[in-house]
Amino acid sequence: MLELEVPSMSGAGLEGPDLLSSLQRSRGQLLGRMSRELAQCSGRYDVFRCLGRVALPELGGWCDLDVLQDGVLHRAAALRAPHGQVHGPPGGAPSPLARRVARSGSPELHQGLSEQVALLLSPDEEDFPRIQEAGMLDCMAVPLWLAGQLIGVLSFASREPKLRLDGAALALAEDLAGCVALALEADRLRQELEHQAADFKTLLDVIPVGIGIARDRECQHIQQNRWFARLHGLPLDSNISLSAPDGERQPIRYRDAQGRTLPSEELPMQRAVTTGQEVLDVELDLEVQGARRGTLVISAVPLFDASHRPRGAIGTIQDVTARKRAMEAQRFLAESSAVLSSSLDPEQTSRTLVRLCVPALATLAMFCGRRPDGALGLVSVSHADPSLQPLADEMARTLVISEEHPVHELIATGLPRLIPVVKEAFSWTLRNGPSERFGIRSVMLIPLATSQGVAGVLALGSTDRTYTEDDFTFAKEYAAHATYAIDNARLYREARDAVALRDEFLGIAGHELRTPLTALKLGLQRLVRESAALGDEDAERLSKWAATCQRQGERLGRLVGDLLDVSRITSGRLPMVLEEMDLAALVEEVAARMRPELEKVGCSLVLKLRSPLAGRWDRSRLDQVLSNLLANAMKYGPGRPIEVSASSTPEGVCVRVQDEGIGISPRDQARIFGRFERAVSERHYGGLGLGLWISQQIVSQLGGHIRVESEQGRGSSFTIELPRWVED
Ligand code: ADP
Repeated sequence: MLELEVPSMSGAGLEGPDLLSSLQRSRGQLLGRMSRELAQCSGRYDVFRCLGRVALPELGGWCDLDVLQDGVLHRAAALRAPHGQVHGPPGGAPSPLARRVARSGSPELHQGLSEQVALLLSPDEEDFPRIQEAGMLDCMAVPLWLAGQLIGVLSFASREPKLRLDGAALALAEDLAGCVALALEADRLRQELEHQAADFKTLLDVIPVGIGIARDRECQHIQQNRWFARLHGLPLDSNISLSAPDGERQPIRYRDAQGRTLPSEELPMQRAVTTGQEVLDVELDLEVQGARRGTLVISAVPLFDASHRPRGAIGTIQDVTARKRAMEAQRFLAESSAVLSSSLDPEQTSRTLVRLCVPALATLAMFCGRRPDGALGLVSVSHADPSLQPLADEMARTLVISEEHPVHELIATGLPRLIPVVKEAFSWTLRNGPSERFGIRSVMLIPLATSQGVAGVLALGSTDRTYTEDDFTFAKEYAAHATYAIDNARLYREARDAVALRDEFLGIAGHELRTPLTALKLGLQRLVRESAALGDEDAERLSKWAATCQRQGERLGRLVGDLLDVSRITSGRLPMVLEEMDLAALVEEVAARMRPELEKVGCSLVLKLRSPLAGRWDRSRLDQVLSNLLANAMKYGPGRPIEVSASSTPEGVCVRVQDEGIGISPRDQARIFGRFERAVSERHYGGLGLGLWISQQIVSQLGGHIRVESEQGRGSSFTIELPRWVED
């Protein structure tokens, strides 16, 4: 509630000469003055003062303004002429008269009876004596209407005999009420506008989206919000328009995906104004003062004037740098993992490792690790500029990593290092080092820690950017992927070297064993022959022992032969001597040779041969395959019958060795043709796990294949299919 003491126009209150003359002024003049003065008002307070200044002296020197808020009448102002005798009601509650008018919406005039007037003006009993004492003569109240809505009540009272309130005064008050209602509404609208403007400004300040507003057709002046200003790194009040007049233009550039700098007329806000259409989701890189600030997605909508002509534009700007970088990083990591693991050669992998880093991560990428001679050096180097690659390669060849070089420390600790700005003093900038030669400004050094210790250090250098913590994190993640690939390649090479060493050893051992074994076998044969010729009992026993020794010698010979075959096959040297032959005859021959052994283990042998089965094959290698299969059938099915069948097929020939032995589980069937693969326990069955592998190698060299069908506990059937005529 506002209570105002209205300044006297005359200095003598209601009795002054101005007041008297104003009584003669026409009602129109008064209303004209009132509306002129109200038009000058800014704020409610001004409206009340104006009311007091212009209307109060005409209408009794006592005026209340009550306004309706949410359906409740509140006192907004109480205006009193300064004659010192009339006081407004304390607390400012609306008078009973004002309430009545607010309820009825009709004006009221009460004249003469001071007690009745006092009652109408007293909001409560306590005020009554004071108001009665003031000796009010008349009072009136008029509703304030605005667009058919009651917004308040204007009440007047007079104690001046010269200023009695009558019908004319009531009509004047009603007209005044219209002016006041309009002024109050104008004030309300102004306040609402001010609030909205303040809300909008707050929104612009806090919203985490860049906003640019241009209020001219040429977009010569674009106002930015705080977020956008922060992204630009320019003061909030800078004009960020690229169409700005010379002298105001900021060092800003926008580039498209192809790196082309966009002229101002192609920018989204400018396009939105010229086309009158919205421009959506344009992805551009922002550069300020030559430095890249990020990737933005910009949309713009035109603003229209009353005749629907574009008068400006609003642009929204989102910083997608982080999102884009994360996506690119993921893609880069996924792609690089695939590329890195595509080679199992450590040198090749380290070359790929550095090549993938340029130009995305570095201008110059180096991998510092052990050279074949064991010394630490630059194993691979890649430069973003192909014309500088030879220089980089030359540096890799010649750079000597001394004992003091910081790379030793990185290898020892395994701790990565970020050097955002390379300083002269830093020891990485050794004489003739990368910084000096290539102008590297920022460096990241990441040791690649494998299961066997640090494999080397990935050094990334940039000539044009300063590495950030984000870059560092990403580089470490990349290095982790690379480490995995490098470790894999190293393990693979180690395993391959170990296998090659073993095969070489087997080859040598096989040869070394065969020479004495051949002599031994010859000696035993002779012993058997000569002891049989002696004919007595001891000689017979001797001959038996000698025959046993001979069989064991042959077995030993087969084992040595298998070992030799392993080394021949793995080194790609399993020669085939092809000749025309009858396979059925070979089966019979092998069966006849093995018959004593078959009998010994109680295996009956049934041959089902469709002879002849002519073809061109390596006789001794097929002998080896058939012997292997028959030997297995005896070994894994002793005492059980064996059947060997051989027949023609449209493609060639088919030989099947079938037993009723222990069988092979489906899971094991898949692997028994592998080298050294066995599906039985070593305690129960001897063997090297080589027979089927060698057999498969022989059969496939002859252009055929071998397969097994088996059921555990019910036996196995090995089938060989061979083409008849094989190229030499
Ligand atoms: P080895 O017999 O010396 O172990 P092979 O390469 O000849 O090696 O056979 C590989 C494995 O296949 C054997 O260890 C055995 O588990 C299984 N196998 C081969 N032939 C038979 C068969 N006829 N019956 C059951 N298992 C067999």
